[in-house]
Amino acid sequence: MKNLETTLYKPLIGQSIKDLEIFSISLGEPSFRGRQLFDWVYRKRVYDFGLMTDLPKSFIDVIKNVPIHPLKILNSKKSSSKSTKKYLFITQSGKMVESVLMVEKNRTTICLSTQVGCAVDCDFCATAKMGFIQNLSVGEIIDQFIQLEKISETKITNVVFMGMGEPFLNYKNSITAAKLLNHSKGINFGAWRITISTVGIITKIKQFTNEKQPFKLAVSLNGTNHQQRLKIMPITKKQTFSDLLNVIRYYTEQTRKRVTIEYVLLAGINDHPIDAKKLKEILSPIKCKLNLIPYNEINGSYKRPITNNINSFVKYFNNASFPVTVRWSKGQDIDAGCGQLATEAV
Ligand code: SAH
Repeated sequence: MKNLETTLYKPLIGQSIKDLEIFSISLGEPSFRGRQLFDWVYRKRVYDFGLMTDLPKSFIDVIKNVPIHPLKILNSKKSSSKSTKKYLFITQSGKMVESVLMVEKNRTTICLSTQVGCAVDCDFCATAKMGFIQNLSVGEIIDQFIQLEKISETKITNVVFMGMGEPFLNYKNSITAAKLLNHSKGINFGAWRITISTVGIITKIKQFTNEKQPFKLAVSLNGTNHQQRLKIMPITKKQTFSDLLNVIRYYTEQTRKRVTIEYVLLAGINDHPIDAKKLKEILSPIKCKLNLIPYNEINGSYKRPITNNINSFVKYFNNASFPVTVRWSKGQDIDAGCGQLATEAV
């Protein structure tokens, strides 16, 4: 067996079966050792080499200094309701990302980040203010799940790719991480319990559709026409409103699945009764679910509509042909609501 220069090795979390087989072979071991490692890391989720009982001691001696986790938890904050907790992680290169753990009735959701910062520049979002710093690797995405699952007192029922960053601008790593979460020989987390939320990168929604990805898709529409969306989401300049609606329709028609449409309610911007009427008209022919998100304020000019206005907006959808939910984000006091995640660059 060969000697190991540990600093040259990638953390085990994030690696595929194939990667771990190649890793084992590179150490002069048979490939099935890689499959055993995969089983420990993802199915059994045991991270103490001493407990990996089916690995020979000689192999453990060689790999015992290989890093397992690509992330370290630096800090956490609990919301006053205690149902939402925000975690700050640091990557091996010293970059910081946040993830959120939310408990409500019989649902426990982990909200994962896919990038450090974000390049999209939605005017109302705190992450956008950081600018784009870097993509997270597959391991950095999936390790948020693995570490928070360990801490959580309740079983994780849902995973949403809705934290910092735009998953479809880190498409390969985001999809590979979702697949690894869903891998039947590993974590085996149901694909229908994983939602990927995009600002609406048209070519990537097409790719996601054509590849028949099994995960749920959510699209942040946030407006009812081109001009209105353009004002708050400059990306609308390139990804026009009508092209976005077309690709959303393409997705629902090809997959016969329901798309989730997210709509952040911003006071005086898109919360007028006319917007509700228009939104209902636009969405009626689309197989969708509407998720209304009352804005979580950051230090900016946008305001959350008063509760009365939120309620009358919601009421307008009483007889809609599609389901409507309201995301009353719970972690606003700790800046863990949607769009409130931001870390200082180091
Ligand atoms: N980039 C992806 C995922 C991250 S944002 C996307 O755009 O979908 C996740 C959701 O939070 C999006 O629907 C976004 O519009 C919304 N959001 C951003 N900032 C917000 C804020 N301050 N309050 C409420 N929702 C916000």
